[in-house]
Amino acid sequence: MKQKTKNPASPVKKKGRVGVRYKLFLYFAVFTVLILTILWLTQVIFLPDIYKTVKLSELRISARALSQRITDENFADEAELLASRGDMCILVLHMLNDDTALEVVSIDTLPFCMIHNTDRNSKFTFYDLARENGGELLRHFRFDGENHMYYSVDEAPEDLSDANEYILYTILTEKDGETYMFMLNSIISPVSATTRTLNYILIAVSLLLLILSAVFALIISRKFTRPIVSINDSAKQLAAGDYKVRFNEGGYREISELADTLNYAADELGKVDGLRRELIANISHDLRTPLTMIQGYAELMRDIPGENTPENEQIVIDETQRLTSLVNDMLDLSKYESGNQSADFADCNITVIIRDLLTRYNSFCEKDGYRLEFSYDEELTMYTDSTKLVQAVYNLVNNAITYTGPDKIVRVGQYVALGQDGKPLTVRFTVKDSGEGIPADKLESIWERYYKVDKVHRRASVGTGLGLSIVKNIAQLLGGSCGVESEIGKGSTFWIELPVNSVG
Ligand code: ADP
Repeated sequence: MKQKTKNPASPVKKKGRVGVRYKLFLYFAVFTVLILTILWLTQVIFLPDIYKTVKLSELRISARALSQRITDENFADEAELLASRGDMCILVLHMLNDDTALEVVSIDTLPFCMIHNTDRNSKFTFYDLARENGGELLRHFRFDGENHMYYSVDEAPEDLSDANEYILYTILTEKDGETYMFMLNSIISPVSATTRTLNYILIAVSLLLLILSAVFALIISRKFTRPIVSINDSAKQLAAGDYKVRFNEGGYREISELADTLNYAADELGKVDGLRRELIANISHDLRTPLTMIQGYAELMRDIPGENTPENEQIVIDETQRLTSLVNDMLDLSKYESGNQSADFADCNITVIIRDLLTRYNSFCEKDGYRLEFSYDEELTMYTDSTKLVQAVYNLVNNAITYTGPDKIVRVGQYVALGQDGKPLTVRFTVKDSGEGIPADKLESIWERYYKVDKVHRRASVGTGLGLSIVKNIAQLLGGSCGVESEIGKGSTFWIELPVNSVG
């Protein structure tokens, strides 16, 4: 049955998820609204309070400054300057006794100023109140324009709630045994024309800010999302199997790094895909050749009388063996690579085991003229999985026989390296041939499965391309490593190095 698979390359938009552009725009809008709210609060809602606080503190500072300079020669000029700067009326009286006073300075800048529009008695009332209050008095008033009346803020009629609020600040100072009274008067309601103007400006600024933030959000979100969109497009191509696709590195650092990673992933996927294709081609070729041979010879022996010879039967047996070893290699390798292969460690005299392995080649060597030489520095007993180690050495020896030179000599060695305590620390098994050698640029690739340096090597059909991969996996499983040194024209030396685990 054909299974339906989802194609990730199709441009399906995720439901319930908003795009990054929209989100950025939203954040921008929220930020703008926040700024505007702060502006409105300070410029409109809290403006009267802020204005009052500022005015009051100005008045206090001015009063104090004046009281310290009462004896200055140009006191009148200073008072004039302060009054015009702070929009206030000033009256300074030199108090001679409880009902007599001399006017030192009188500056009248405000319309309907409290100081200059009240009678003389009121001034003495303020003087008394200030004295009772410790030399300082602060009073808030509203002015009723129609009746020319001043009301204390708490007692003002309702219809005066919008009228300007006046503040009268009085302080008493002693200087050279004389008493002076400073009265400062100012309006502390913000000028309504100014607040109206501010409001208009604020409305205009708010609208402008909203439009600008929308435009900015749009531009910035485009700028930010463009590389992401481009990477997403490329990723879709990659998902569709185009491993040559390139991810754009433009934009910013994180995107650049992501693009690098994805480019690397695409390259690796490409390599794996190439290997997979090669693998399938190799397997089908390697399987088909012996199968064709077996079928051909079997049919020949069945159909043609007299062809049922021992030689032809041997060919069928050999090809069956080849097929079996190929399938076994494949199974072994897949077990190693999936991590399902475990080592069966035991004490063993590895020197004897290797020597026994080499004797298996005796009849082959006698028949074909090969010579296997084994040399070792000491007979070694170690704790390892001898079956797996023998399989690895066997693969190396088979390769060496296949690729060795016309002298047909293969040298196998076993060398022990001692630790500081004088005991064997590591052991190195070497298999040396006198063949053509391996080009330096191929030394790494030969360990990959199905890799063959010379794909049309005269005896390449002998191998499966899996032998060295199995050697590598075995060396790793036994806690060691493997490698090769090769010189073109002189031959190669393959080695496996293992730790000599403590016996017992
Ligand atoms: P194969 O079954 O083809 O020998 P291997 O994995 O054992 O597969 O080896 C991979 C490739 O490494 C071989 O095809 C060959 O090209 C190269 N190779 C292995 N051993 C030798 C050697 N002793 N001398 C030269 N080339 C070698």
